[in-house]
Parts: sequence; C-alpha cells; structure tokens
Amino acid sequence: MNQITSPPETIESESKQVSCNGDGGPLGHPLVYLNMGEKDWVECPYCDRKFIYKPKK
Ligand SMILES: [Zn+2]
Repeated sequence: MNQITSPPETIESESKQVSCNGDGGPLGHPLVYLNMGEKDWVECPYCDRKFIYKPKK
C-alpha cells in the first residue's frame, strides 16, 4: 500500500509573523516569511503547512 499524501502539517505560532523553510529537509524550500495579517492563520505557499496563531496565555 502506498501512502499517497499526508495531510499538511499545522504549526502553532505565538506570533502572527512566521517563517518557513519546509523544515530544511529534502522537501525544504527557500526561507519565506509569512504574515497572517487580519487572519489568525496563514498557509505556506510552498509546502502547504498551516500556521495557526496561538497567543501565549
Ligand atoms: Zn513552507
């Protein structure tokens, strides 16, 4: 059996400004900075990871 695609990761962030480089592995990509703006999540256009804003309490 082949695993076709794994669901995109979701990563919690304490900041609305996040950076992503695809984890630097073989599937990594150039470092990009993403800003959530008025939303509380943003999706990386390279690796489809979803960053969710989770402010520290
Ligand atoms: Zn990414």
